[in-house]
Amino acid sequence: MPSSDITIRDIYLARKRIAGMVRRTPLVTSSLLTECVGAAVYLKLESLQETGAFKIRGALNKIFSLTEDEKAAGVITASSGNHGRGVAYAARKLGIHAVICLSTRAPKTKVEAIRRLGAEVVVYGKGYDDAAEYTSRLQKERGLTLIHGFDDPFVIAGAGTIGLELLEDLPEIDTAIVPLSGGGALSGIALALKSADPAIRVIGVTMDRAPVMYHSLRAGKPMEMKEEETIADALAGGLFGLTPVNHYTFRMCQQYVDETVLVSEEEIAEAMTFTLEQHHLVVEGAGAVGIAAVLHQRTSKIGQNVVVVVTGGNVDLPLLLKVARSHSGKEADLHPI
Ligand SMILES: *Cc1c(COP(=O)(O)O)cnc(C)c1O
Repeated sequence: MPSSDITIRDIYLARKRIAGMVRRTPLVTSSLLTECVGAAVYLKLESLQETGAFKIRGALNKIFSLTEDEKAAGVITASSGNHGRGVAYAARKLGIHAVICLSTRAPKTKVEAIRRLGAEVVVYGKGYDDAAEYTSRLQKERGLTLIHGFDDPFVIAGAGTIGLELLEDLPEIDTAIVPLSGGGALSGIALALKSADPAIRVIGVTMDRAPVMYHSLRAGKPMEMKEEETIADALAGGLFGLTPVNHYTFRMCQQYVDETVLVSEEEIAEAMTFTLEQHHLVVEGAGAVGIAAVLHQRTSKIGQNVVVVVTGGNVDLPLLLKVARSHSGKEADLHPI
């Protein structure tokens, strides 16, 4: 199926399906970021979403779409944590069995939350890609339905519902800055925004450690890269993982995304601290990359009404405290333009 098969209609259908089960997350102004870049900057706080990340939108939309037989057999996924938590939550709501494969790298807070939701947790391998490989094996052995973390039309459309909320809450939006890993969030949000107005700039931000979609877009084809350890743990992993080919997100990012930029580990840590100190918000590394890109003015162009999507807030407290202790006050070095 070509990626163009996903349309704005799928996003409206997703919204209808998941209505009442996801939070409409707040869109707040950031006066400091506004000062920093000279444009109105807003934060879309998916870190305050049920389960602490946007992934629940896609997981619910996908699981609602399954047949009764598929639901009875159960579902499986590989995850760096947030998608697994979203799937576990959705499965529990619908009373179906979920198997979540995580690597030893998954943060404790994510693993514990998945267990609390009653899912079967399988820990395998040193990173997301290892866990994904094992998941494909288990899926076949046990006849489970695979819930892909990003390369699935229902998952993409679920994330796209964020775009609908942005258009309603800020019709004058002209730039959206979205964290990027496999590209499910970016594809869905970009499709929603570009369907309303192709002139809205959509920018993907990822970490400079093994940024696979970033390099794939430049190479003109989906690439493989060796996963690296990063503070943005939810962004780690390749474009294939659960499937040998990428069906949707690469082409959708090619088609809809205006620019992709990188931020460093240090910049992500600073952005997490900035958000905690200035906005009193707990944001995980992956959720902070857009804020890091704005603080360091990484994008080539920015409009007048800019939304930064803060995708998640699930961070181990000891890590956040360590990061905050070593980075507090640093953003004072940033001079407004
Ligand atoms: C999954 C995730 C992302 C990346 O989403 P993709 O759809 O894989 O690009 C970003 N931030 C957080 C917090 C996530 O959990």
